[in-house]
Amino acid sequence: MTGPVRTRFAPSPTGELHIGGLRTALFQWAFVQANGGELILRIEDTDQSRYVEGSVENIYEGLRWLGIEWAEGPDVGGPHGPYTQSERLEKYHAVADELRARGRAYRCFCTSERLAQLRKDQQKDGLAPGYDGRCRAVDPGEADERARSEPSVLRFRMDRTGVTTFPDLIRGEVTFQNSLQDDFVILKTDGFPTYHLAMLVDDHDMEITHVIRAEEWLASGPRHLQLYEAMDWPAPHFAHLPLLVDRDGRKLSKRFGDVAALDYRDRGYLPEAMLNFLAFLGWSLDDHTTHITADEFARVFTLDRVVPNPAFFDVERLDALNGHHIRALTPAAWCEHVGEWLDRDLPADIPRPLGADLVAALAPLLQERVTRLDELAGLSRFIFGELPDYPADLLTERIKGDTELATRTLDAAIPAVEAVAPDDWGLEPVEAALRGLQDTLDLKLRKFVSVLYVATMGAPRGIPLFDSVALLGRDEALARLRGARAKLA
Ligand code: GLU
Repeated sequence: MTGPVRTRFAPSPTGELHIGGLRTALFQWAFVQANGGELILRIEDTDQSRYVEGSVENIYEGLRWLGIEWAEGPDVGGPHGPYTQSERLEKYHAVADELRARGRAYRCFCTSERLAQLRKDQQKDGLAPGYDGRCRAVDPGEADERARSEPSVLRFRMDRTGVTTFPDLIRGEVTFQNSLQDDFVILKTDGFPTYHLAMLVDDHDMEITHVIRAEEWLASGPRHLQLYEAMDWPAPHFAHLPLLVDRDGRKLSKRFGDVAALDYRDRGYLPEAMLNFLAFLGWSLDDHTTHITADEFARVFTLDRVVPNPAFFDVERLDALNGHHIRALTPAAWCEHVGEWLDRDLPADIPRPLGADLVAALAPLLQERVTRLDELAGLSRFIFGELPDYPADLLTERIKGDTELATRTLDAAIPAVEAVAPDDWGLEPVEAALRGLQDTLDLKLRKFVSVLYVATMGAPRGIPLFDSVALLGRDEALARLRGARAKLA
């Protein structure tokens, strides 16, 4: 094969972009970047019954979220279009005709009842399921005649002798027994091609050099190689990426939790963290590197460092990476995220736009403390508008219900804060006043601080107390401390 490296991401629009699909696309993208090639986006919508409205847009959005760009595709066009399979039907029919003319495809009239019975019988006899080739014997002229009035599919005539061997760029040489293959459908009764035919035609037309796809397609290798051979077309290189599995080694599924790529965005994962995480699902740079940026990944990626065994989709690892990438953001970039997420998540009755100064003051306090962006509003709620009501018990939750201590704490805190003059109000005097309570109460701060957290923030923990009190302002801080004291009375 000569010319530049070309690979394609070929999702089916059957729902939201799957996180495993995003990993596939990321590896394809990195592969073409590292090799100076091109990524093609192709929409495989030949199964009309599984089509879900909005999926294509969801796919675009998911790819763009990670910064994955494609050189050719339904939205950007290109010299090999159209890039949506349902718009390419004539091309599939032309190749189907050619395969028939070459004696490699034949019409099959077997009914679904017959095929169901066949499957049952095979199961009963302990045989591998598969078409038994009955319609191979129908004379092609007669088949054409019958096809005018009877529904039929087109099947590919598999050579069932010997073995199929091909080099997989990840797994090395793989071998399949051809006796286990059957004559599979390439054109369905509705005239739409199956995946196998459509993929063959498109990958050839689109000059795909490398088919990088999920492991589940590995077993289709023999079918695809025989299709290429039947058309006298050179086969591309194949690379089958390892499965993504959960803690118990099961393939990721809806039952596992989130499999929709954009749900991760909506739950507050940064794209750079998700990219970093996905990059190491099945690939490694060396035996120690755990952090990587998009640019680096696109420079150093090679398929020979992808392993065949399943990769554990470890959400805890993703969380840790997200925290890491949050802390690595510049103050300005972080502040922008904070503003965006507070605007998204704070209750609607809090007036918008949110005060920019307040957001800017809060942002640095939050950067060290969150794992995901969807935690921001919960931690910041107290500073915007009134404190939502909370039960008195909450004040003593962290001090084993010691109401006496809570009362003493507030009775000491109120005059201490009152003693800070309005003109002096700020972090340092507030901190000095509250730290001073240790002497008054003769207790370490950590013994009673939770009372002050609840009083000012409505929760026993949150962003740093002194900053929070300072940000609230003197009047509001005092009002909250007094309100808490009143609850205990
Ligand atoms: N449409 C197939 C899928 O979504 C594409 C497989 C391939 O990359 O060839 O799984």
